[in-house]
Amino acid sequence: MPTDLIIGNWKMHKGLVTEALALTEALISLPLFPEREVAIAPPFTVLFPVAERLRHGKSQIKLSAQNVHSEAQGAYTGEISATMLAHVGCSLVLVGHSERRILFSESDEFINRKLLAVIAAGMRAVLCVGETLQERERGQELQVVRGQIEKGLAGVSPIVARAGVVIAYEPIWAIGTGKTAFPRAAQEMHAFIKERLTVMYGLSVANAIRILYGGSVKPENIRELMEMPDINGVLVGGASLELESFRKIICY
Ligand code: PEP
Repeated sequence: MPTDLIIGNWKMHKGLVTEALALTEALISLPLFPEREVAIAPPFTVLFPVAERLRHGKSQIKLSAQNVHSEAQGAYTGEISATMLAHVGCSLVLVGHSERRILFSESDEFINRKLLAVIAAGMRAVLCVGETLQERERGQELQVVRGQIEKGLAGVSPIVARAGVVIAYEPIWAIGTGKTAFPRAAQEMHAFIKERLTVMYGLSVANAIRILYGGSVKPENIRELMEMPDINGVLVGGASLELESFRKIICY
C-alpha cells in the first residue's frame, strides 16, 4: 500500500512572505507521522522563501506548486515552467485543478502536456479530476472522470506512472462549498479510478498510484474519509490555511 499523502492547497492566499513563513514555521513544529506524507502548495511568489524555511528547518514537509506551463521556456508572458519549479525546491505540482479547468479554460490536452512536463522535470504531478453537479445529476460522472484520467495520462508509461503520478478526485460541487462527498460515494469513485488505472497499467502500478480525495475536507470528516480503502490521502483547500484545522487533518 502506498503512503498516504496530504496536500494543503493555499490557492491565492498566504501570498505575503511574512504570512506564508509564519504558517510554514508553525507547520514545521508539528509532529508528522512517518506513514503520512505532507505537502503544501503556496502561491508562486512565496515558493522560494517557503522552500528555504523548510530546508533550514530540516522539515519532511514537501513543497508543491499549484500550476505550471507545459513549455520549458519561451515567449509565454506570465507563465512558469516545470524546470523553474523544480529549481526552487518543488517536488510536486498540481495539474488540472477544476478552478483552472473552469476559470482558465484548460483542456485535457493542455493538462496532459503540463503533466508530462512536470514528470520530465523530475517532480510528481497531481492530476486533479472531478465532475460538475450537472454531470453527476445526469449520471455522467464516471464517463467524465474516465475521460479526464485517460486524456490526462496519455503517453505516460507504467514505470513513469508508478513514480510520477498522483490522482486527486475532487467533485467540483464539493470544492469550497462545505459539502463533502459522502465517504461511501467518494470511495465508489476512487474504486472506479483504481479499476481504470488497473486496465491502463496493471494492478501493481495501480496499487502504487495514490488517489486523493478533495472537496471540503475538514477535521470533522478526515477520519471517515481516510477509513475508505481506496482513499490514499486528501487535497485540502480552505482548511489548510489555518494551523489548527490543518494540524487536526494531518494528525487525525
Ligand atoms: C481544493 O482547492 O482543491 C479544495 C479541495 O478546496 P476546499 O478544501 O476548500 O474545498
